[in-house]
Amino acid sequence: MPETKESLLKHYVPYQLKEGEEYMNEAQLEHFKSILNAWKRELMEEVDSTIHHMQEDAANFADPSDRASQEEEFSLELRTRDRERKLTKKINETLERIEDDDYGYCDSCGVEIGIRRLEARPTATLCIDCKTLAEIKEKQLGS
Ligand SMILES: [Zn+2]
Repeated sequence: MPETKESLLKHYVPYQLKEGEEYMNEAQLEHFKSILNAWKRELMEEVDSTIHHMQEDAANFADPSDRASQEEEFSLELRTRDRERKLTKKINETLERIEDDDYGYCDSCGVEIGIRRLEARPTATLCIDCKTLAEIKEKQLGS
């Protein structure tokens, strides 16, 4: 099963752009800061429930014939936690970028990444063009 599902934030209110509004002004930065913080909270709760689940399962570990499937399940959950930890780290780095006034611009070519793209993927550091290009290159290397 592919692990590409970067669980996206379930609830946020899309930013209402005013006409002629400056890109990445104070209000927009606040908007993304609150999205990122909410996302981080969600992830932490997920991690908590995973740990809880594993402890509960371990307690019901009476039958040795269940062990194999149990271990499989645990390793899946550990992978999930690993993914969550990496994502949390990425979110923290993104929050730092906001503090450094470095948020919302493509790392590769410097153009504005765009509000809507950032709302869909708040940790994006590349514009859609550079991202697409990077994915094509990745595919070529992988084949
Ligand atoms: Zn770019």
